[in-house]
Amino acid sequence: PKRIVVKVGTTTLIYPNGNINLGSIDELAFVLSDLKNRGKEIILVSSGAIGVGLNQLQLNQRPVSIPKQQAVAAVGQAELMDIYNQRFQVYSQQIAQVLLTRDIVEYPESRNNVINTLEELLSMGIIPIINENDTVAVDELDHLTRFGDNDRLSTIVSELTHAELLIMLSDIDGFYSDNPLKNTQAKLHRRVTKIDDDLMKQAGASNNQFGTGGMVSKLKAAKRVLDVEGSMVLANGKRPKVIFDILNGADIGTLFKGE
Ligand code: ADP
Repeated sequence: PKRIVVKVGTTTLIYPNGNINLGSIDELAFVLSDLKNRGKEIILVSSGAIGVGLNQLQLNQRPVSIPKQQAVAAVGQAELMDIYNQRFQVYSQQIAQVLLTRDIVEYPESRNNVINTLEELLSMGIIPIINENDTVAVDELDHLTRFGDNDRLSTIVSELTHAELLIMLSDIDGFYSDNPLKNTQAKLHRRVTKIDDDLMKQAGASNNQFGTGGMVSKLKAAKRVLDVEGSMVLANGKRPKVIFDILNGADIGTLFKGE
């Protein structure tokens, strides 16, 4: 694949104790920079604004009120981009911040503007780093509606840019027959060609206090990808170098691809 969207979950960026995982972020920057240097077009969809904001403000818990969460996210987004900028600079890559809201789904004009901007950035050899604009979009933070989680956002970005592959890095090796943290008998699905109700039932919620979507939102995302005949790999982001292995065709994580 030439054009690749990579989505990283909070767990790839932040340790369970709330500290920022600089090693992982650096490795991610290295891998993506190397791929870009080899002629790939890379788009990164990154969560983590709240986690980084909590760290920055020395809070140890997600605030309850939505405006407070949005304030934390606003602080964290700036800090997160600062960290990315530093790490990507080491590998001589220019990055760009793109914050999106759901009007890109509803309004063709907004959608076209986003498409044009992303195409321009890619043609300039820049790596766009995308997140939902938490100040505008409350849904990203709302566990009830979950409309705008980054799993969904990454599929929308893949569609808009006609990316050939979406790589989703999470804190788990892939999609299992049941939540492996609760059921040790759970088996990893290596390849999923179609998502039906049976598979949907195997997906559970997130166990992580920073995680938003859980496996349900990843499966919904995969369904969207399959619907437009795209491919998606869900893999563990503990070592971002796993992206090299995925692109080399190694049997890693869960591949969602039609027959
Ligand atoms: P991220 O922050 O990367 O988006 P989430 O925490 O939202 O990740 O989702 C991953 C989590 O989903 C896993 O850590 C696991 O606890 C949970 N989960 C629930 N059901 C499953 C399943 N069938 N297979 C794998 N993970 C599952």
